[in-house]
Amino acid sequence: MSILKLTNVNLMYQSLKGETQALKDINFEVEEGEFIAIVGPSGCGKTTILNIISGILKPSSGEITLLDEKLYSEKTKKLNHNKNIGYMFQRDHLFEWRTIWKNVILGLEINKNLTKEEKENRKVYIDGLLDRYGLKDFKNKKPRELSGGMRQRVSLIRTLALNPKILLLDEPFSALDYQTRLNVCDDVSRIISDEKKTAILVTHDISEAISLADKIIVLTKRPATIKDIITLNLKDYGLPLNRRESPEFQPMFEKIYGELKNEKS
Ligand code: ADP
Ligand code: MG
Repeated sequence: MSILKLTNVNLMYQSLKGETQALKDINFEVEEGEFIAIVGPSGCGKTTILNIISGILKPSSGEITLLDEKLYSEKTKKLNHNKNIGYMFQRDHLFEWRTIWKNVILGLEINKNLTKEEKENRKVYIDGLLDRYGLKDFKNKKPRELSGGMRQRVSLIRTLALNPKILLLDEPFSALDYQTRLNVCDDVSRIISDEKKTAILVTHDISEAISLADKIIVLTKRPATIKDIITLNLKDYGLPLNRRESPEFQPMFEKIYGELKNEKS
């Protein structure tokens, strides 16, 4: 079942210097439970796509449908914010003066739509996530006392706190060193699949995309158009680190590398 659909989405940035087209005729669908990776050269429009899906930016034209509800429609030109979307930004944005626990419940604290009981239930769930994903003993620590990989897990758990159906991840590993990045990739993949979430990951790292995704959307340079949509079948290999060892990995890398080679921005 498709839970998210973008139809003919275009986006122009307006500035004093004029118009910049960032997205051109973007069409794709996301199935429930799918892990999508979007790859493309830097500056092509990847973050712009996530900002449009999350409702931070309004498309210049096109439609966005989430779970049969129009997030944006050509007719009304209105944006509907949707609580089914969780956004994890490029940097982890943890607040240094708050403990890990206070960081992960931040969304609950500022949410006005949940009853007291719902908030308590969410806290039990979040507490369980911290336990399950190796952060049990760090609840009362400050972010600076944690490694880069742990901080990313905290950031992901904070994004899960409001129980979104779809997670948007904008280059979440880009600030980590290579070894940490490989391990965090495994952690994030495990958490997202255990918690049965649908995810859209933006990255410029082809290996990362292949190791994590069920489907890869390859973009051209700006204005981003869809160059290719590739379905992968690496699920049987398990977590990302194992997928990197699969015989399909290298040929797939070369295919996508070839597609992006002429798309330098
Ligand atoms: P990516 O995430 O793929 O690196 P972005 O989606 O951030 O790229 O940006 C796509 C293009 O749009 C870039 O060339 C960028 O300079 C331009 N851009 C981004 N935000 C704005 C803005 N607010 N005003 C004008 N141009 C912008
Ligand atoms: Mg970006």
